[in-house]
Amino acid sequence: RELVVSFGEMLIDFVPTEAGVSLAEAPAFVKAPGGAPANVAIAVSRLGGAAAFVGKLGEDEFGRMLARILRDNGVDDGGVVFDAGARTALAFVTLRADGEREFMFYRNPSADMLLAEEDLNVELIKRAAVFHYGSISLITDPCRTAHLRAMEIAKEAGALLSYDPNLREALWPSPDKARTQIMSIWDQADIVKVSEVELEFLTGINSLEDDVVMRLWRPTMKLLLVTLGDQGCKYYARDFRGAVPSYKVQQVDTTGAGDAFVGALLRKIVQDPSSLQDQKKLEEAIKFANACGAITATKKGAIPSLPTETEVLQLIERA
Ligand code: ATP
Repeated sequence: RELVVSFGEMLIDFVPTEAGVSLAEAPAFVKAPGGAPANVAIAVSRLGGAAAFVGKLGEDEFGRMLARILRDNGVDDGGVVFDAGARTALAFVTLRADGEREFMFYRNPSADMLLAEEDLNVELIKRAAVFHYGSISLITDPCRTAHLRAMEIAKEAGALLSYDPNLREALWPSPDKARTQIMSIWDQADIVKVSEVELEFLTGINSLEDDVVMRLWRPTMKLLLVTLGDQGCKYYARDFRGAVPSYKVQQVDTTGAGDAFVGALLRKIVQDPSSLQDQKKLEEAIKFANACGAITATKKGAIPSLPTETEVLQLIERA
């Protein structure tokens, strides 16, 4: 059983054709399919693993296009449902010259937010070795209830639960609400991955010291990771902890690097779950995940830059 089932939103990012402009200044936008949970599923599949995506799309041209992208990338879309009354979510996003990311979401509500408990493909979820999710699906009902139920089904069927909160503050009514809701499912996860920004947001402390990270640790966890961009990541397991540097690459666009990292790590864990208890094996898995994230940062967009297993192994060998 090696299936990774990823739950949540799949949408279209519209990104400016020119770099370093504000949304208002952008002369034109191109479609960039994304949504962190969908990226993770495609990352796993690109690496040769079995992956499925669970979520709702609009019954429109964009929704059908996204479902086709999943299938073309070898992801099982048996958990995808369509809503005739709502549109596929859109997000206009840019990285301004001052380094700030600007977002504008079209979710009023979008189809992903309308996934309901009745829409869940229970049999598919029960086959998961790892069930992965974020926090955007927790923001409103009915998706929130469907999310909680899907976690329960997966856990009861013996899956490991993997959580990457993927904070998007602009989507929440307030930072406090975001923090409370993100933390409301913290104790259920076996594997949690946060970025430096999320670490500070959730702990309220701007520090990478172990005692700060350990505020996010729970005795029920098997692995906690903090990703650090080109610096690689720090990891905390039950009996050991450490840091693994990443690989030197020419960074072009880090979009999707975190999702590539998660996909690669989950791929390694389903292939050998004992990696979670064995420091040497775990570090090997994390190296693989770092290399996968690094490659994704060398090309524009998320999905087009996700590497194959061969490409990842080549980067590791070259280093
Ligand atoms: P995202 O940016 O996708 O929302 P994130 O902040 O977790 O998520 P990063 O920390 O940027 O993502 O990247 C995830 C992993 O990918 C890093 O831990 C690292 O291993 C690798 N990585 C990302 N950018 C680079 C880079 N420029 N050079 C080398 N490795 C990188």
